[in-house]
Amino acid sequence: MLDFTIHTKVFFGENALDALRTINIKKAFVVTDPFMVQSGAINNLTDILDDLQVPYSIFHDIVPDPPIENVGDGVIAFLKADPDTVIALGGGSAIDAAKAISEFALKISGKSNAHCIAIPTTSGTGSEVTSFAVISDKQNNVKHPLVSDSLLPDIAILDPKLVITVPKIVTADTGMDVLTHAMEAYVSTKSNDFSDALAEKAIRLVCENLLCAYSDGTNLFAREKIHNASCIAGMAFNNTSLGLNHGLAHSLGAQFKIAHGRINAILLPHIIKFNAQVKDHDSETYNDAAIKYANISKMLNFPASNISEAVNSLVTAIIKLQKDMNMPTSLCEQGINKEDLNLFKKEIAKNALLDATTKTNPRTPTINEVLQIIEDIY
Ligand code: NAD
Repeated sequence: MLDFTIHTKVFFGENALDALRTINIKKAFVVTDPFMVQSGAINNLTDILDDLQVPYSIFHDIVPDPPIENVGDGVIAFLKADPDTVIALGGGSAIDAAKAISEFALKISGKSNAHCIAIPTTSGTGSEVTSFAVISDKQNNVKHPLVSDSLLPDIAILDPKLVITVPKIVTADTGMDVLTHAMEAYVSTKSNDFSDALAEKAIRLVCENLLCAYSDGTNLFAREKIHNASCIAGMAFNNTSLGLNHGLAHSLGAQFKIAHGRINAILLPHIIKFNAQVKDHDSETYNDAAIKYANISKMLNFPASNISEAVNSLVTAIIKLQKDMNMPTSLCEQGINKEDLNLFKKEIAKNALLDATTKTNPRTPTINEVLQIIEDIY
């Protein structure tokens, strides 16, 4: 028996932030990053809280890939504030940190619950609907994906006006993160009819709108579509988990401080090839992952006269999308030093195999295969 649950209530579309006016909040603890405060973006939230006369405090120290220490400081601030509602405003880093802060603070205080409202300002991680929170151990260069249903936000608010200011480079990185989530959910060993429906929709939305959101960040239509795609992909992978792409992205990203979406994007064409195991010519048998990748190619009208061609077309289209958004397609282009890579690659491969997300990859990798992928992406 399988099950599919979406715990989080999602408000979306223009002026979705007004949903806050319909929610009963007694005392809010806002978790965000310094950019949100410096840019004034926080006012979109605090103006409404002021209007509603809701008391609040703001913890605005979250840094990208939030480290354990960041979460620890947040727990102290949370306990001091004693809120009934946590509001996370920011990218995946702020939302993940808010989820972890709330989780640990509630355990320490013995309180049973605090409502969690997640308001993403990047279109990438889907953290607003997932039971994941990724916390970094900067001393050991490791990223830990915490996984628990208690990390699921109660409410997600997807307001496209909050993502208009996302710079081109972050739009590209986070958009490719969405595509990777949907692709990994689609071929995960736990994929099913429900998650497939969500993954297919998210992939279509990204392929039809990401370049437009990248080229013209003020295009509210494209921004909204990618914002929705991010959340839809989050719903899919929350049910299926992810795969080797994320396992390797966590360990490579932590070691070389590469933005999460960018390292996912560098890996994606190589992971598809590894999972599908297709040759350049048609063959008699194909594995399930190859057939599913081919479905995506057909859905997107890429050249797909046989499964091999369809998988190769998908890989080609992904690389073209990366290039059209001026993204690096290798570790070398990303500026990683080959000697550094050689020094750390065994450790990186070991950590990737231990990462919780690797377990649901459609093809079980050996350490030598992971090392080969690391070589290939250089
Ligand atoms: P991020 O939250 O680290 O933000 C990246 C940068 O964009 C920051 O400098 C931030 O200030 C800036 N930014 C955010 N919103 C902006 C806006 N509207 N305008 C201008 N600048 C803005 O990036 P992210 O990619 O959203 O999150 C990455 C983190 O999420 C990583 O730690 C990753 O491991 C984690 N993650 C979590 C999940 C999950 O399910 N919980 C899934 C994937 C990734």
